[in-house]
Amino acid sequence: MKIPFFRFDQMHTPIREEMVEAATRVIDSGTYILGPEVQAFEKAFSTYCGVQHCIGVGNGLEALHLALRALGIGPGDEVLVPSNTYIATLLAVSYTGATPVLVEPRAHTANLNPENLEGALTNRTKAIIPVHLYGQACEMRPIMTFAAKHDLKVIEDNAQSQGATCEGRRTGSWGHLNATSFYPGKNIGALGDAGAITTDDEHLAEQVQMWRNYGSTVKYYNQVQGYNSRLDELQAVLLAVKLRALDDWNKERQRLARIYHHSLSGVGDLKLPAVAPGCTSVYHLFPIRSERRNVLQGHLQGLGIGTLIHYPVPPHLQQAYANQGWKEGQFPIAEDHARTLLSLPLFPGLTEEEQQVVISGVKAFFG
Ligand SMILES: *Cc1c(COP(=O)(O)O)cnc(C)c1O
Repeated sequence: MKIPFFRFDQMHTPIREEMVEAATRVIDSGTYILGPEVQAFEKAFSTYCGVQHCIGVGNGLEALHLALRALGIGPGDEVLVPSNTYIATLLAVSYTGATPVLVEPRAHTANLNPENLEGALTNRTKAIIPVHLYGQACEMRPIMTFAAKHDLKVIEDNAQSQGATCEGRRTGSWGHLNATSFYPGKNIGALGDAGAITTDDEHLAEQVQMWRNYGSTVKYYNQVQGYNSRLDELQAVLLAVKLRALDDWNKERQRLARIYHHSLSGVGDLKLPAVAPGCTSVYHLFPIRSERRNVLQGHLQGLGIGTLIHYPVPPHLQQAYANQGWKEGQFPIAEDHARTLLSLPLFPGLTEEEQQVVISGVKAFFG
C-alpha cells in the first residue's frame, strides 16, 4: 500500500459538481478581475475570521508584503519574525527594504516564544509577524500586549492555520493586518495561487485595496506606486465553495491528530507537537521530532509512506540570506527542528487503515 503525504481526492470529489457549476458561472459572466465573486468571498472569509474586512490578493507572500507596505514599513525598519518560519515571512520583509530580525520559538509548540521578543527589540523595531506554524495559533495575548507597550504593529502570518483559535478567537483577527495564503495545499486552498489580508481597521483595509491594485482607488488615478496582486474571480468562487467545508476538514484533521497523539506518545525518542494553553491547532501538519529523523524517514519511505521535512534549512542558513551575516548555532531551536522534524501524512481523507499503517511503521522503526 502506498500512502501519499497528501492528496486532494476526498476533499474535492464531494464538492466537485459545486465547483464546476461555480466556475462555469464565472466563465459565462465575462467578469474575471475584482468582480462580485471576489467581493462575496471576501465577505465570507472576513466573517469566518471574525473581522470586518478581507482583501483578496495574489498569494500569501504578497499578502504579507502588501500588509507591510500598507503599514508604511520600509528601509531602516526592523521586523521581528520567528527563526523557524517558512522563508516567505522573511522575503516579505526584505521586499520592503526593512530587515527581518529572528526570534526563537518555543521548542515544544514551534511557535514564537513571546518571552524572546524583548531581547530582539531595538529602536528600529516597527512590527512583529507571529506565524501560526503547522496549524497552531500563536500565544497572541502576550504578543499583542508587548506590541502595544512598544508601539509595534502586528501582522499575523495565518497561511497555515485558517480556523485555529487563541482564547476562542480565530487567527487572522488579532493583528492590525493579517495575511493568509490559499496555496492549494493549505487547509483551505485555491486551485492555483491566491491569498488574502484580514483586518478590523477600515483605513488599513482601504490602504491594502489601493496597494494591491496599482496604487489606485479611482481608475487611472494612482496615489502610490502600487502592485498588481489581486485575487481573481475564478479562484474566489472556488474558495467560496471550499470555505463551506473548511470547519469539517479541520475537525477531521484534529481527529486524525488525536489518534497520532494517542498512538505515538512515548514511542522511541519521539516528541509530538504540543499545543499551548488557550490555543488550538487545525493541524495543517503533524510534525514529529526524533534524533533519528533521517533514518526514520528512509524507513517509512521503504514502506511506501510519504513524509516531508518542514523545513530542512532554517531561514538564517539559507543562501538567499548569506548577506545578513547570520551564523550557524545562532538560532539553536530553529536548527534543532530543521535537523529532527518530520511531518507525517495528515489530511482529510486519510483512511483509518492508512493511518494505522503509518503508526505501525513508526512503531516498528523504534522496535
Ligand atoms: C505558504 C506560506 C506562505 C506563502 O504563501 P504563498 O501563497 O505560497 O505565497 C507564507 N507563510 C507561511 C508560513 C506559509 O506556509
